[in-house]
Amino acid sequence: MTKIPVGVSECLLGEPVRYNGGHKHFRYLTRVLSDYLELYPACPEVAIGLGVPRDPIHLLATDKGTRVVGAKDHGFDVTEPLAAEAERVADTLPQLCGYILMQKSPSCGVYNIKRYRSNGYPQDNDGRGAFAARLMERMPLLPVEEAGRLNDPALRENFITRVFAYHDFQQSVGDNPKARVLIDFWSRYKYLVMAHHPESYRAIGRLLADLSGPDLRGITAELKALLMTALSKHAGRKGHTNTLMHLRGYLREQLDSDEREELGDVIEAYRSGEVPLVVPMTLLKHYLRKVDFPYLEQQRYWAPYPDKLGLRNVSVD
Ligand code: SF4
Repeated sequence: MTKIPVGVSECLLGEPVRYNGGHKHFRYLTRVLSDYLELYPACPEVAIGLGVPRDPIHLLATDKGTRVVGAKDHGFDVTEPLAAEAERVADTLPQLCGYILMQKSPSCGVYNIKRYRSNGYPQDNDGRGAFAARLMERMPLLPVEEAGRLNDPALRENFITRVFAYHDFQQSVGDNPKARVLIDFWSRYKYLVMAHHPESYRAIGRLLADLSGPDLRGITAELKALLMTALSKHAGRKGHTNTLMHLRGYLREQLDSDEREELGDVIEAYRSGEVPLVVPMTLLKHYLRKVDFPYLEQQRYWAPYPDKLGLRNVSVD
């Protein structure tokens, strides 16, 4: 399998690049995800010339917006160099299909980064690291997640789903496809999108209803935006149950009454939280093998990422 290119904060690989000479080795990344992802490490603070060890920096809330400054020397401002480093990464690594960033960092942190006042007291947790912020502006559809949040099974599953879908889109569609390519891609993703966000499922259907016009490039960009936005929504039990019921409908004629009842019971057990998603999925896939239905077989919903990752074995609401 081709590994998917994904950027990472370098300290997550165990490299001693933090301000204090330490690291934040994230073993799930180096022992599990690295089998599937080609990791592109970067430490923005080292890249802009700050040494190891170095004086710590933090976010400063000012009238002119958030700045990244020395924790002891507010005159030492590295906001622009960190943003420029994000620009450099976006320019030189357009093939990236995701980014895993270190939390709580004034450079790499994505969510709830502490901002300080000029008197040194904390103001709020509304900040975002300067590198992360510019990267996300430049590549707004790129799946981005903090390493710490990947310990949450639902967030982990969602991020991995998006990375694999993003990569598939880049490989299968690119940015200048033919109408047939768009239809083929969407045919494979319908039920995955339905599980995540039924509104987007309908919106994409409308978008692709007429591909006879000249602006296929614009439609392609819109499809990518709708797809990635839909997949960023959490696919909970409600979304999966709805999708499983749709898929079951295709088998109505092929199954006998006992099989139909068994499948209905298993979907209900999933809906009520008694079993994880992998249980109804396994039974549905078993029945699908009995019928010749290429349209259903090709659905990414069955395997949005390698089964070995075991992400559907856990119960998430
Ligand atoms: S959080 Fe980012 S800037 Fe800080 S050490 Fe890790 S890679 Fe470098």
